[in-house]
Amino acid sequence: MVPKRSSGRDFYDQLLSEAPDGRCALCGQGLADTLDHQLPKTAYPLLAVTPANLVPTCRDCNFYKGEQAPATAEEQTLHPYFDGHVHDYVWLTARIAGPPEPAISFHATPPPDMPPVWAARVLRHFTTLKLARLYNPQAGPELRSLSRSLHRLPPKEIPEHLRERAADWAEENPNCWQAALYRGLAESTWYAEEGYKEPWH
Ligand SMILES: [Zn+2]
Repeated sequence: MVPKRSSGRDFYDQLLSEAPDGRCALCGQGLADTLDHQLPKTAYPLLAVTPANLVPTCRDCNFYKGEQAPATAEEQTLHPYFDGHVHDYVWLTARIAGPPEPAISFHATPPPDMPPVWAARVLRHFTTLKLARLYNPQAGPELRSLSRSLHRLPPKEIPEHLRERAADWAEENPNCWQAALYRGLAESTWYAEEGYKEPWH
């Protein structure tokens, strides 16, 4: 425990304040209100206060990661700052089920050209942090809002609109749930022609 008003507390607050948009660096969704030891301090005490080992996260991600001590590279979740080119790959996908009405589920789908260790870590990251459970419920309000917008567009412009939305979100982060959702919708001929007309429940 770091006493209040100590330089250690200032240091922690400084690291927390660097979270992009105040969001968790692991899921991108929850509020960054704690610092996660990427490698647990019980197993790696010398790394406990190394800034690179302290990542602003939400309490859920921090809890799900717990005190897992990865024994191999494959067993590590992704590090938001240091895994470099892992973040250049598109690995989050959304499956669009339907008819009769659209149903969305998110999946970790490492691309075939991703190095196997990274692919294993992407899958580990997605399952350990329970990202499907976090992202799946986001799709409902987004689809309802999108359906209203698409009803105002000429039908022939809908596929291009979905592709643009996918590209705009990918600029933020190619593996955010919104980018994955719009990529999936843009690839679904059924959604662009019929699916968007169906109510989402
Ligand atoms: Zn999180």
